Amino acid sequence: MSQTQTVEQVLQQGKNLLRCHEVVQGVLDAELLLMHVLSFSRVQLFSRSKDEISKEDIAFYEQLLHKRVEGIPLQYLTHSQEFMSLPFYVDERVLIPRGDTEIVVEAVLEYGQKENIQVLMDIGTGSGCIPISLTYYMPSLRMIAVDISDQALEVARSNAIKNGMHEKIAWMNSDLFAAIPPECIGLLDGIISNPPYIPTEEIATLMKEVREYEPFNALDGGKDGLDFYRKLAKEGKRYIRKNGFLFLEIGYDQGETVKQLLKEHGYRDIHIRKDLESRDRVVLARV
Ligand code: GLN
Repeated sequence: MSQTQTVEQVLQQGKNLLRCHEVVQGVLDAELLLMHVLSFSRVQLFSRSKDEISKEDIAFYEQLLHKRVEGIPLQYLTHSQEFMSLPFYVDERVLIPRGDTEIVVEAVLEYGQKENIQVLMDIGTGSGCIPISLTYYMPSLRMIAVDISDQALEVARSNAIKNGMHEKIAWMNSDLFAAIPPECIGLLDGIISNPPYIPTEEIATLMKEVREYEPFNALDGGKDGLDFYRKLAKEGKRYIRKNGFLFLEIGYDQGETVKQLLKEHGYRDIHIRKDLESRDRVVLARV
């Protein structure tokens, strides 16, 4: 092992290790981890394939590969995830932003134009991916971002600074609306949320990466997965101005149930939007 090793050789060993442990997308992850260790772009990973790697970098790379084999998600090792083409820092304190959530954000962007949306509240902001991307793409928008976890709010704040959106977002630690000041009643143009929506018992059946490493309270939607939709529908309404909106991400099999729930609470113009796989993913409604 005293011989020096090149980028190419170390990468090959990384790929082999992840492949033989059957890590999903192991080849890609081996590349991304090495890019992270060396601060290389994808192009550099190949154009500098004959460079020698220091012992320290090899040791760090091996450490990350072993953590990946244990099941720690790639994004918690590289501390990064792109969302709406913007960079986000992530670690175990927050849910990793998902592509599906971009569908809710895009719906808001579309309505924002024609409906004069100026102030929105995001409930369960996690990494802050929703308010940060919305304020980035709608320069006049202001947001209130709420989370029950102070640790998540720390991550979200740092992401707002990273993306230059910190002056447009007010952060609040609150269990749903518990700590929201009454001055907000009737004031919001809308509420957006990607709440926890997995039925408690199903969490044990999810991939190890998710069930063991992502925050449990970011996933757990109660016995039938609908706890947060019930509360959001019931308690959210009085904070939203007349004709304002509720934008919700939902599980693929929750569309009709959530639609019915919103109807019972007197919401109007209820629409379901689908994801790229044609599964229900978003419910929009008007107060
Ligand atoms: N709002 C964050 C996201 O969409 C966090 C959601 C959550 O933790 N349930 O990624």
